[in-house]
This record gives sequence, C-alpha cells and structure tokens, in this order.
Amino acid sequence: MSGAFQSQKFWGQAQFSLQEVKRLLSDSFGLGQFAFDYENVFEWFEAQGAEGSHWNVSRKHDGDGQPSFDEYLIIAISPVPKNTVELGQKISNALSCTVSFGEGAYDKNDSWKFVERQKFVPGPSRSQTATFIDKLSDGLRCDKCGGTVFDGIVSGLSFSFRCCSCHSPGPATSWSAVGPKWEGTIKVYRDEGVIDAPVLEGEGKEIWQEIRQLSLGGKRLLLR
Ligand SMILES: [Zn+2]
Repeated sequence: MSGAFQSQKFWGQAQFSLQEVKRLLSDSFGLGQFAFDYENVFEWFEAQGAEGSHWNVSRKHDGDGQPSFDEYLIIAISPVPKNTVELGQKISNALSCTVSFGEGAYDKNDSWKFVERQKFVPGPSRSQTATFIDKLSDGLRCDKCGGTVFDGIVSGLSFSFRCCSCHSPGPATSWSAVGPKWEGTIKVYRDEGVIDAPVLEGEGKEIWQEIRQLSLGGKRLLLR
C-alpha cells in the first residue's frame, strides 16, 4: 500500500464498491494504470493521475470480499495536491458523499485516526464548509513539510499564512488587504501555542477592524 501512509488524505463514506469508485474517479480525474489488491483487512487500488500523481484508494472489507460501506474510503494522493479545496469538492461530487481532508494517522488496531481540516458536501458549487482561509490558501504548499492547510496570523498590520502541520510561515500581506474581503465567519484565537476558546468570532465584514485594533494593541492572533 505504498503512498497510503502519508499523513494528509481525503476520506468519506462512499456507498460504492471499489470498482464503481474506480469508474467514478476515473471519469472525473482521468486516472489510469489501475492495480487492485487486498489483504485480510483492507482492499485498495492504486492508480496514476493525469499529471503524474499517484493515487491510493482503500477501505476495509467485511472479511468475505464485500465492501464495508460504513467504513471510510481513504484517498491518498502523492504528492499531496496543492488545491485541496478544489479537489475535495470534486471528489465529493464524484462520489456523492461528504468528503473530509486532513491528517490521518494509522494506529496499531488496523484503524485510522483522523484530524479533519476541511469538509466538502456534494453540490454544484465550491465548498460551503471549507473556511475562507482554506479558499484563500488553496494552491499554496508549505516549503518545509509539503502541508496544504494553513492558519492565518495577524500581527501588527500584517497578515500571513502559517502551515498547520509544522508552523512554518507562508506568504504575508497586510491585514487591510485581506480583512475587508473575508467571506463568512472568522474565529480569532490568541496565538499562544495552545488553541483555546476563540477570543472573538463573527462575520468577517463586521469584525475585521476589531481584529485590527486587537492586533495593534499587541496581541498576536490566529485566524481560522
Ligand atoms: Zn509545514
């Protein structure tokens, strides 16, 4: 199952057999060079993406060769794609189910532990559930760890991205360039290493200036 153990992946409860999943993903993503395999717990297929990426699609089976539809179908793409918001939405549409993106860690009991970062529901438009920061950072990749999920940091008058996984800084601009354009809710946390309760939460258009004031007052803020 090479590629399956990388940390960031998509998952969802697709109600299709692996053969059907293969057809649906193939139609949407132009996958080729399929190889199916299974062992006593998981079944999976591997495939090549159009742009040279490697896909690993796996799920537990019931032990008699039948799919377990209540288990997560796990999609690991390597290298981890940059545009996870666009891709997550497309996968969700293709498989007609809610799809999550985030970190998955394999534990010793043949199961996965997931930390969800983005969530997509099937629909004609881009995700309504990915946050604005996800949309803003879509296409960005962490120089250090390859992570594709970012928090926003507001400090002084500046706004910068920061990798969720390794905390490396990303591109920066001014908060005035980003704040007024923020769509949807902003959750504001003190950036003190521990993500506690938000100190402020509200619609971007209504609270971006308040965030500016907080930041100018010397508080370093983390936005999600
Ligand atoms: Zn990183």
